[in-house]
Amino acid sequence: MTPADLTFDQQHIWHPYTSMTRPLPVYPVVSASGCELTLADGTPLVDGMSSWWAAIHGYNHPRLNQAIKTQVDRMSHVMFGGITHPPAVALCRRLVAMTPDPLECVFLADSGSVAVEVAMKMALQYWHAKGEPRQRFLTFRNGYHGDTFGAMSVCDPDNSMHSLWQGYLPEHLFAPAPQCGFGDEWDEMDIVPFARLMAAHRHEIAAVILEPIVQGAGGMRFYHPEWLRRIRRMCDREGILLIADEIATGFGRTGRLFACEHAGIAPDIMCLGKALTGGTMTLSATLATRSVADTISDGEAGCFMHGPTFMGNPLACAVADESLAMLEDGGWQRQVQGIESQLTAGLGPLRESEQVADVRVLGAIGVVETRHPVDMAALQAFFVEKGVWIRPFGRLIYLMPPYVISPPQLAKLIAAVAEAVENPAFFRS
Ligand code: PMP
Repeated sequence: MTPADLTFDQQHIWHPYTSMTRPLPVYPVVSASGCELTLADGTPLVDGMSSWWAAIHGYNHPRLNQAIKTQVDRMSHVMFGGITHPPAVALCRRLVAMTPDPLECVFLADSGSVAVEVAMKMALQYWHAKGEPRQRFLTFRNGYHGDTFGAMSVCDPDNSMHSLWQGYLPEHLFAPAPQCGFGDEWDEMDIVPFARLMAAHRHEIAAVILEPIVQGAGGMRFYHPEWLRRIRRMCDREGILLIADEIATGFGRTGRLFACEHAGIAPDIMCLGKALTGGTMTLSATLATRSVADTISDGEAGCFMHGPTFMGNPLACAVADESLAMLEDGGWQRQVQGIESQLTAGLGPLRESEQVADVRVLGAIGVVETRHPVDMAALQAFFVEKGVWIRPFGRLIYLMPPYVISPPQLAKLIAAVAEAVENPAFFRS
């Protein structure tokens, strides 16, 4: 890539959450393989991000590449209306088998945010079909579910700046975020405000929507599994649906195949995305129980009202099926456990640092929460100089590497984080 390419990029291309007038620097990546990204000047960077939870098997994996190549020669896309194809059937068969038992009916869509839109629409249609229309969702503060309007309406109201969309965005119910951490002793009082909110609005709430165990983009917080058991029971008692957004947590990241398994519960609707295709292409799936699917289907519309152009894209389904086959071949549990141990040993001592407020590790996720917000551009430049790709935000420096990362590569990521937190120049006070 030439300097002119980078200037064009700055002047014409929006990147996630950036300004066109004051764009943050971007780094030109020309290839990626295993757990390394290669910059245009040939510099290799060890990847600590899995491209936002997605590239669990690393990059340029021969099995995933082959799945795409084989499928592209058969057909890269065909409409899903009135047509089905082997990659979709194989993938959905695998998803139904892998996910908690009651989830049987799969809706394939384009991205995580759309999977959440689909889940919310399912809940609304479910209640409409029952002749008792309900329009509200109950969720936590500090949540994150995507950037489309429905998904955004259940994201943390401050983080996703609900004030910008006032009058347009539906107003849902927000309970305080769980305070009782994953390894903490269960505190009965933690759930009281949530229970009260549900009780006060029990005839209006279509569904509870939450990220199980890990609140990701809204703060990288890990909460107690008892929360999920209690919410499951409360939802059952009131007949309210439970939507688990496993888009970030799904496929082993927290040490269990799905984070719901930490609590031994099954939701009525589950959203999957990100690692579904091993990080190669965009695809998501929303799974529902037979009862939810049947109720919707027997309602006034007579069908579920959604059907995107690229629904069930064969290329994406083929590579997703291969990625899940690789997961099933095993190895991920041992790999995630190894990463968890190394992150715990390596990041734990950083608690002593003056800049550090907390260190948390769960599965293949390591989080260093700092006392002050990071200077993102300066810290990113430092990490690149150290030969690692880590993208901090707010007061969070976190690692979620591909499961196949080697101990020396992970050690390099940890060392870079350790050096960074010792330098006050990277933090705004
Ligand atoms: N839900 C969760 C829990 C997520 O972490 C994300 C993405 N960060 C989404 C939904 C949205 O997915 P996408 O970016 O693919 O639309």
